[in-house]
Amino acid sequence: MKVALFGADGKVGRVLAPALERAGHEVRGFELGDAIDVAGLDAAVDFTTPDAAPENVRAALEQGVSCVVGTTGWDAAPLGALAADRGLRLFVAPNFSVGAVLMMRFAREAAAYFPRAEIVELHNEAKRDAPSGTAAATADLIGGGTAIHSVRLPGLVAHQEVIFGAEGQLLTIRHDTTGRESFAPGVLLALESLSELPPGLTVGLDSILA
Ligand code: NAP
Repeated sequence: MKVALFGADGKVGRVLAPALERAGHEVRGFELGDAIDVAGLDAAVDFTTPDAAPENVRAALEQGVSCVVGTTGWDAAPLGALAADRGLRLFVAPNFSVGAVLMMRFAREAAAYFPRAEIVELHNEAKRDAPSGTAAATADLIGGGTAIHSVRLPGLVAHQEVIFGAEGQLLTIRHDTTGRESFAPGVLLALESLSELPPGLTVGLDSILA
């Protein structure tokens, strides 16, 4: 596929571009300030900022290009409606790492047996939004107003613990992302699945993982 990559020079973008190319895709990188001309490309991928992503996605959709978005901390629903109107796809995942998606599945399962849980999410200090999209999505899955604690420190990549507590026992489900390579297989899967998704907004890698 011919793929636009918004945020190509970012921490994720720098790892993602070569991974997409190794998988046979042709990547055109876009950075802040570049004119958004994506007409004729097969898909756009966005790993930028919560401020930049809506503008990039809107421009891509208006040019007839479906989008895969990893940027967190923004509301995709209005642009999902635009995508649906145009018969295009907008796929948004708060976490493209398969291990993190499994962590969320296991947390949902555990929530049926443990009435109380809290989430600790830890990310590099450069991450601008808090709580993380993954933590917010996990809290939604667990329900019950689950508290989220956000840690931003140098040395961290992306980590999350879901701690379940009950009388006399604790259960901790933890996932650690130690390298941004972990996001590439999920983005590739989303690109490959894009044409099979219904028009409009689809959220979460879970929805396309077998
Ligand atoms: P980053 O290193 O700050 O990279 C963002 C890049 O986007 C920067 O190079 C930035 O350029 C660029 N940018 C800013 N505005 C832009 C625009 N209008 N058009 C094109 N590019 C623009 O951040 P990151 O760690 O790569 O993360 C990017 C986003 O992905 C964050 O929201 C993060 O939370 C999210 N993320 C999601 C996942 C997931 O699995 N869903 C995984 C990791 C990260 P400047 O530096 O010049 O501003």
